[in-house]
Amino acid sequence: MKDSKYIFITGGVISSLGKGIAAASIGSLLKNRGIDVTFLKIDPYINVDPGTLNPLQHGEVFVTDDGSETDLDLGHYERFTGITTSYKSNFTAGKIYEEVIKKERRGDYLGETVQVIPHITNHIKERIIVAAKDHEAIIVEVGGTVGDIESLPFLEAIRQLGHDLMPDQAVFIHLTLIPFIPSVEELKTKPTQHSVNKLREIGIQPDIIMCRTSCHLDNDIKKKISLFTNVATESVIEAKDVDFIYACPIQFAKEKIDEIIMKRLNIDIDHSKQDNAKAWKKLVDVYRNPQDKVKIALIGKYIEIKDSYKSLIEALHHGALANNLALEIEFISAEILDSQKDNSTIKNALKGANAMLIPGGFGERGFEGMINFISYARVNRLPFLGICLGMQMAAIEFARNVLNIHDAASTEMVNSKTTNRVIDFMEDQKKIAGLGGTMRLGKFTTTIDSDSLVHRVYGEKIIHERHRHRLELDAKYITKLAHKGLKVVGYDTKTNLPEIIELTNHPWFIGVQFHPEFKSNPLKAHPLFNDLIKMAYKQKKGELPKN
Ligand code: GLN
Repeated sequence: MKDSKYIFITGGVISSLGKGIAAASIGSLLKNRGIDVTFLKIDPYINVDPGTLNPLQHGEVFVTDDGSETDLDLGHYERFTGITTSYKSNFTAGKIYEEVIKKERRGDYLGETVQVIPHITNHIKERIIVAAKDHEAIIVEVGGTVGDIESLPFLEAIRQLGHDLMPDQAVFIHLTLIPFIPSVEELKTKPTQHSVNKLREIGIQPDIIMCRTSCHLDNDIKKKISLFTNVATESVIEAKDVDFIYACPIQFAKEKIDEIIMKRLNIDIDHSKQDNAKAWKKLVDVYRNPQDKVKIALIGKYIEIKDSYKSLIEALHHGALANNLALEIEFISAEILDSQKDNSTIKNALKGANAMLIPGGFGERGFEGMINFISYARVNRLPFLGICLGMQMAAIEFARNVLNIHDAASTEMVNSKTTNRVIDFMEDQKKIAGLGGTMRLGKFTTTIDSDSLVHRVYGEKIIHERHRHRLELDAKYITKLAHKGLKVVGYDTKTNLPEIIELTNHPWFIGVQFHPEFKSNPLKAHPLFNDLIKMAYKQKKGELPKN
């Protein structure tokens, strides 16, 4: 604890200002200054982890290598910095309470009244210190907005930590909104003043204010904010809306936020180690001047909230950037085809998409629709990538329509009475009772067949990917499926669980039981997304192989 530096980020005025992206961008700049930085996201809700939350409520559940089900902001941290997060990098109020109550039941606090202060706050502090251990700096992002009842114990804990640490060990950054009011053509600082007041009431004086704004903040506005908030004018940072999230590090570097933080934390600024805004600049340049465009149909069941597919959307963009292409995603609800499957409805819905992607999901809603869309991609030779549930549905589609097992289904289709459960619970899953944290989670190794399309795509035989599922392709169908052309070409190296399927006699039809999107990086697109986009572009130009 004595050595690590702590960078606390809080949010004010409204939610969704992009605290996660701000934290990730700062992390990227500091890392490029040679600082060994790590991250922690604190979420004030009572769920022990987001694993049991509907993606429509909370967005995607990001899975780490070590199998933790975490907040989607960890995805930003990994993508912007290339670092690997873990169970230490995210906790919720629920987790803190669970651990404190466990201790209480064990008798650890015998004789004491267990209270929010100091027991909950001490536990929060311990968790923050554990996450920072062995790192030069930690960026701690506190979820929620200042003023929420829920975040109070967390803000109290970071206030105390700020006091416990040496003065040059902690920096407090507050992200707020500076709205532009069109009727008077003015930027308004009042909400920021109130938000900082709220923070100071709790005992936290911010060192840096990041101002989310749609317009440029001139020096007068910065001075005004400075006057009302006791923050130096140069530490009032403009966080202007960007067209592309990877432009954020470039923008923050211009405002010198990394240098301000380092000065505040007494870290030597080595000017030879500039931020690598260069790499980001190149990326932004491709984004703004693409050579052409592809359209991908994303057929899912949580499409109303795009955050449900955060990593997936990012991974598709990475693939497009790697191919110098712009990307358009056509979001389609699988449910529109649950009860019908005529080709013209499908064609209309696809709106000329050059490839199809069916992502992961849970519960029966939309299953039949997915199967109908997959049929279309298989028959019409549209490049297809099925991820987790998407792969499972592809196996069912093939069993039904090619093997003529008309009642082929998944155990997840609760109403199905069939004995042909092509997708069924994994053996150990049959014994598990609770639904929280009990899936096959995290990094597992797959061995890929050398003469497969997927081997060409990865260029490797041994791969490591992240998982989050309960069901699997039942081994007893593997030979039958392969006989007609749907082959399992990748198996878990240890347990032999089927991991990858691909279709022969199709230009590009791949299903994977894992989630490649969690490991894609803007500066290094994941091979599956890179190749999917490449094939989509070939489809667009009519250059797909004929067999
Ligand atoms: N619901 C399926 C399972 O549990 C698929 C999970 C997923 O798509 N992540 O196996």
